[in-house]
Amino acid sequence: MNEVAAHGIRFEFPGQEYAALQYAGADEIREAQTRLFLRHLHYTAGNSIFYQRLFKDKGVDANNIRTLSDIVGLPLTEKKHLGNSNSFLCVGNSEIVDINLTSATTGSVPTVLSLTSGDLARLAYNEEIAFAMTGITKQDTLLICAALDKCFMAGIAYFLGGVKLKSRVIRSGSGSVSSQWELIKLLGASAIVGVPSLMYKIGQYALNKGEDPAKAGVKRLIAIGEPTKDAGMKLLPLAQELENMWNAWIFSTYASSEIATTFCECTARCGGHLRPELNITEILDDAGKPVPDGVYGEVVVTPLGVTGMPLIRFKTGDISCLIDEKCTCGRTTKRIAPIIGRKNQMLKYKGTTVFPNAIIGCLEGDQRFYNGYIEAYMNQDGTDRIVLNAAIDATKGTEWIKDVLRAKVRVVPEIRIVDRDVADNKVYQFEKKRKRITFFDLRQNRVEFCQDNAKNE
Ligand SMILES: [Zn+2]
Repeated sequence: MNEVAAHGIRFEFPGQEYAALQYAGADEIREAQTRLFLRHLHYTAGNSIFYQRLFKDKGVDANNIRTLSDIVGLPLTEKKHLGNSNSFLCVGNSEIVDINLTSATTGSVPTVLSLTSGDLARLAYNEEIAFAMTGITKQDTLLICAALDKCFMAGIAYFLGGVKLKSRVIRSGSGSVSSQWELIKLLGASAIVGVPSLMYKIGQYALNKGEDPAKAGVKRLIAIGEPTKDAGMKLLPLAQELENMWNAWIFSTYASSEIATTFCECTARCGGHLRPELNITEILDDAGKPVPDGVYGEVVVTPLGVTGMPLIRFKTGDISCLIDEKCTCGRTTKRIAPIIGRKNQMLKYKGTTVFPNAIIGCLEGDQRFYNGYIEAYMNQDGTDRIVLNAAIDATKGTEWIKDVLRAKVRVVPEIRIVDRDVADNKVYQFEKKRKRITFFDLRQNRVEFCQDNAKNE
């Protein structure tokens, strides 16, 4: 049992002894979650100034919350609330051991997430189970090409998880593409953890040198930060290309710093398994009401057992749905479908809803598509106008793109052919060209919202 003392309360987070819940029956899962949820709620309500104020404002008494279903009566937490992070702290500074920074919704001041030693141990347990789900074992050599510095949470979580699983971990971090490839060869990496576009660049680098990544011995690609599948659970072209390039299985893992939990695919690879011991996952409609399994809505997560800055009903802004069908891996937990987009990037086009990353996602990896980005404008009548700026061979026309988009997203926006340089300069203009931004929202009052394809990089 992992424990942390907070204001004199011995508080424990759910650990290894709860891992069996992955295979438990619905009643057992519900009973364990109820216990963990009520403990989390009372700890948070007792120690967090933010939630004490919020509950008072909304007339909520935590003592009246008795069951898991009562969670719908609790107010939602949004990213903008985290600006005043000190009010969320449930422990003194002497119990904080790690500071994480995430991007803010507005302005340049990042959001601070403070972690206790218990929170770090919780992250390690979370990733240990997630890696194990993909078939990674202590026999594996894990190349982690996600930043471990700059106060990012993802890299340290993957590192701690790999160590806890007793794998051989290579902390290559955000090193250059050439150094990543050399490390893969030198140390015999059998699994890579990173964003798909980076894994693609490493493979391309090897191919350009006349070497073959398919023969490198990499068996698993753990894809972070970017989706690998479309809503129909089919691999996106880039993910398919990666599998061919590396002769490896690609696994999707969905996470964010605030929710401090990974939803990772198992070897059946049909959605990320929920982690009932680590969080309560809800899917809500625009009115904030829960939707049935299979219906898309916003992912709202209550990460259980966090002791530094616990959150209740955090709105992720990501759109997905839950799958409640038996998984062939034997686990009984529900799964989360691929994230189809960000709520604030939803576009309405001729009566159809579409997300910009769905459009780019079905073109990336296609050899005929070099690079591109989407711009959204608002028409006079308030509807959305979508322009796909594509760096393609102009002599071959745009009809093939229209066919792909008609088949995959049922929406064909305006298509503008741009030069490769123009596309590259637009897409890689931020953060010393490390970040790839493929969506520019120019609708009224929405200029600040850009797609960040590399949030975990
Ligand atoms: Zn499964």
